[in-house]
Amino acid sequence: MITAVLPTYNRAHLAFTHGAGSWLTAEDGRRYLDLGAGIAVNALGHAHPALVQVITEQAAKLWHVSNIYRIPEQERLAAMLVDLTFADTVFFTNSGTEACELAVKMTRKYWTEKGDPRTQIITFAGSFHGRSTAAIAASGAEKMVKGFGPLMPGFTHLDWADHDAVRAAITDKTAAVLIEPIQGEGGIRVVPDPCLKGLRDLCDATGALLIFDEVQCGMGRSGKLFAHEWSGITPDIMMVAKGIGGGFPLGAVLATENAALGMTVGTHGSTYGGNPLGCAVGAKVTEIIADDAFLAEVSRKGARFRQGLESLVARHPKVFAEVRGQGLILGLKCVATNTDVVKAGYAAGVLTVAAADNVIRLLPALNIPDEDIDTALQKLDAAATAVGHG
Ligand SMILES: *Cc1c(COP(=O)(O)O)cnc(C)c1O
Repeated sequence: MITAVLPTYNRAHLAFTHGAGSWLTAEDGRRYLDLGAGIAVNALGHAHPALVQVITEQAAKLWHVSNIYRIPEQERLAAMLVDLTFADTVFFTNSGTEACELAVKMTRKYWTEKGDPRTQIITFAGSFHGRSTAAIAASGAEKMVKGFGPLMPGFTHLDWADHDAVRAAITDKTAAVLIEPIQGEGGIRVVPDPCLKGLRDLCDATGALLIFDEVQCGMGRSGKLFAHEWSGITPDIMMVAKGIGGGFPLGAVLATENAALGMTVGTHGSTYGGNPLGCAVGAKVTEIIADDAFLAEVSRKGARFRQGLESLVARHPKVFAEVRGQGLILGLKCVATNTDVVKAGYAAGVLTVAAADNVIRLLPALNIPDEDIDTALQKLDAAATAVGHG
């Protein structure tokens, strides 16, 4: 008999009643150190006092109004993002998937308006852009698309970060190139800065729009507000979600004025997107994370965590192969089966998240205290020892 909840997830037998900072408490009272953070969502940990305050105050005032009215909280967050990034304009969504949908629509509309109806979007193996029909066609991982055809046409998949393949595939008929500067689901794979620069050059030469999916790697996780900032180049369109809401469902598409030229009145919309509650929370999250001192701390904590992970790899060569990532978007490529390591983590009281390419992801709260990093390393050591003996 089918379960009351549609059975699309292979869930761990863990249920949590509350959280504080980097820690979650399960129904049986056991505490877990959370290195998943709701898959990079709880960017400031659980129940951050400033976020609890802002959501409580806003909830007492106004939750929702339609986008047929001005929404000052939305205007304020949009102005902050425009001020902090390459973007001239922002549309708010409720998820990363919806951001992907708009990025694709914006691209198609751009070329229609230009009188040059290009539709081909180049994407990469191992990428993840969401679960809508457009997003799975963009992602193209076999297990996500099987049985859901006919797929939305217009996507060309290339090998990951293969510059020669892009050079061969991109033409003056290419509408856009869509890439995660750091692949999340694909196994914490960082696109080298010269590759991002090379992509920008190829897009400039052909007129193709460059779209970054920073849904997982953005909002401070890499040690910059957005991961592409390390490369010094900027996209035309960027998808954001996950961390920006700190746990409240919120996403955004950021764009240059030029890329957004087709998006006029009536061309797109959302009932919930940009609601006062979500935008009030998003503004507080953004205000905290965009601070230079906060971002420097993310880099420092990331380096500290990474150093400990390197010694774990050295101590457990039969379990771990290498450390990947940047800042606090880290991965351990496993020799053992990654899901066995995740399960051993549960037994040791630490939550990690499996990714493709036999990787476990470590995506802690960006404000994780140093002592929790040290505890995490001890628990991961215990998990690796258990897997090594098992
Ligand atoms: C999670 C994710 C998405 C999809 O976001 P949802 O909020 O789950 O719809 C898209 N792109 C990347 C890189 C992601 O990590």
